[in-house]
Amino acid sequence: MISRGGARSVHVRAPGKINVYLEVGALQEDGYHDVAIAYQAVSLYEDVRASESSDFTVAVQGSVELSRVPLDDGNIAIRAAKLLAERTGYRGGAHLEIEKHVPVTGGMGGGSADAAATLLACDALWGTELPRDEILDLARQLGADVPFAFTGGTAIGTGRGDELSPALAQGTFQWVLALADFGLSTPAVYRELDEHRARHAETLGAADPRPSVGADVLQALRAGDPRMLAEAMRNDLQAPALHLEPSLAKVLETGEGNGALAGIVSGSGPTVAFLAADLDSALELQVALSAAQYTVVRATAPVHGARIIPD
Ligand code: ATP
Repeated sequence: MISRGGARSVHVRAPGKINVYLEVGALQEDGYHDVAIAYQAVSLYEDVRASESSDFTVAVQGSVELSRVPLDDGNIAIRAAKLLAERTGYRGGAHLEIEKHVPVTGGMGGGSADAAATLLACDALWGTELPRDEILDLARQLGADVPFAFTGGTAIGTGRGDELSPALAQGTFQWVLALADFGLSTPAVYRELDEHRARHAETLGAADPRPSVGADVLQALRAGDPRMLAEAMRNDLQAPALHLEPSLAKVLETGEGNGALAGIVSGSGPTVAFLAADLDSALELQVALSAAQYTVVRATAPVHGARIIPD
């Protein structure tokens, strides 16, 4: 906790994520799908500073394109702070300063990281001391990816993706991320998947109603073996994302032609994540993709979840 010009503030850092495995189950009557996800938290972070205020306000800056980030009650960080205040009966508000480094609408859970960081920051700022499982419950209400931004590391998500269990993982994986200058809407990508499955129902057969993360993925994570993981990665949202944005196929081809072990659309895209064998290959790939005019950042995984940073 620090004091700035009289107002106390708390700084929390939370990570973005990559889905190394994302299987989407059959469409359910309520319009949702069960999913099976293997999440890895990556070293692209969101920093949230919460300070005392009588109402709820947000300011945003950062290294990524920010024009799509709402500055009103539509911002998930404001929703998180209000939800915590409601749950705990806290009567004041908070001013939230967000520093974004996770691409917006990029399929890497930047908004979810902001929500997780805000819950933790406001809980500390307000002294509400909500137990961890109750914070996770609020996280779940805010979005399926929010609990993972809170816990970080490597985890398996089932149900809506928010029923988390930690996965055994060792070592550090090297990722190279090609960022797009456009966003893809997660609901639109799911809609495209449903339409594709409906059109090809006869050849595809029914989607598994109970999706699960493949044993080969768990083994690769446990072994810390990037080659094994590259073979096992899967994302059911990749084909619909490519259908909506055909230019992503070229990105995948360029990365895989320049030494990536494998490329995968991250979540609902449009970020494309390339897994490299080691740091040297990651650096070479970064240079090659930059030379091909892509916006590229390097990241390692797994990293920790939302944490208070002493300023
Ligand atoms: P996910 O992979 O969790 O579906 P994403 O990484 O594709 O999400 P985000 O950047 O987390 O996308 O969120 C995108 C949407 O959420 C945008 O429509 C944006 O307007 C809205 N939004 C609300 N609050 C935020 C925030 N704090 N940061 C970014 N986007 C926000």
